Amino acid sequence: MKAATYHGVRDIRVETVPDPKIQDSNDVILRVTKSAICGSDLHFYRGRIPMDEGFIVGHEFMGVIEDVGKGAKQFKKGDKVVAPFWVSCGNCINCKNNVPTSCTGGGGCFGFGVAFGNFPGGQAEYVRIPFADSTLEKVPEKIEDDKIIFLGDIFSTGYFCAEWANIKPGQVVAVFGDGPIGLFATASAKLFGPSLIITIGRHDFRLDVAKKMGCDIGINSHKENPVDRILEITNGRGVDAALECIGSEEALLDAFKIVRPAGTISFAGLFVQPVPIPMLDFYLKDLTLRGGVCPAKNYITKLLPLVEKGKVDPTAVITHDLPLSDTPKGYRLMDSKEENAIKVVLTP
Ligand SMILES: [Zn+2]
Ligand SMILES: [Zn+2]
Repeated sequence: MKAATYHGVRDIRVETVPDPKIQDSNDVILRVTKSAICGSDLHFYRGRIPMDEGFIVGHEFMGVIEDVGKGAKQFKKGDKVVAPFWVSCGNCINCKNNVPTSCTGGGGCFGFGVAFGNFPGGQAEYVRIPFADSTLEKVPEKIEDDKIIFLGDIFSTGYFCAEWANIKPGQVVAVFGDGPIGLFATASAKLFGPSLIITIGRHDFRLDVAKKMGCDIGINSHKENPVDRILEITNGRGVDAALECIGSEEALLDAFKIVRPAGTISFAGLFVQPVPIPMLDFYLKDLTLRGGVCPAKNYITKLLPLVEKGKVDPTAVITHDLPLSDTPKGYRLMDSKEENAIKVVLTP
């Protein structure tokens, strides 16, 4: 089969590799119908996360069941499924506590190399799914792939960030980040009925998409100071909830400055460096800080009706739909943001 593989910093290639096979009885083999390149894929692309030469990348994908191991009971050949980015055993204490992303029974992340469980990814024609019964979610056949693929990661992650921000109707929300997570956090925040959503980003073309997805005021932090502007908009009061969707120290520290006393800061950004949390602000303002890696598996079927009813249009973030053979170009576009790239999807 053809698959996108890692060969060094900014070197992704599409190669012919052996087809994946059933290895354990709980496996299924998925024929990938759609995959996507994630902002987190840029971590290894830019050399910030080590990866083995030749490893098959990609953790956002969906498809149709092609082959089923004897022990996998939930799926049959031809079922349409979405994969969350994390493999989970379904049996360990963390899976039973509904934290599949902390699975200790052999779980890990697709497409992120040995350090994350050694699960070859889904930017490929086929992919092996371990622990299929507890990892995958079945989805209706009639919905287009582009509308549901993001339930496996970025839509769920954005929603998780909004849900944890404890937004009440009529409140004011700030979302830091105009990347795919920030855009889905903006769309998700809207579902909780705030009176105002302010999205902070660095690209006018992305802030325009944010407005389509529910943002009322976009702030380009290259052009104006977001802290000053937000305090001006809120008459010095600050926002009720701030959502950090980048993994940026600067944005997180700005969130501490613009959230009102007893407000909430929720984060879904991936912080690869330690951040000095301003504990005195935290203490004096009685804040709540929540966040982490989204247990996306828990959100796939929960968020599906929002897509079915048209309350959120996930396709708004897609700027490029490339053939799998153009995966290297897709990484270049996501990395450089050339051609106003926001989200690149791949069709095998
Ligand atoms: Zn992702
Ligand atoms: Zn587990």
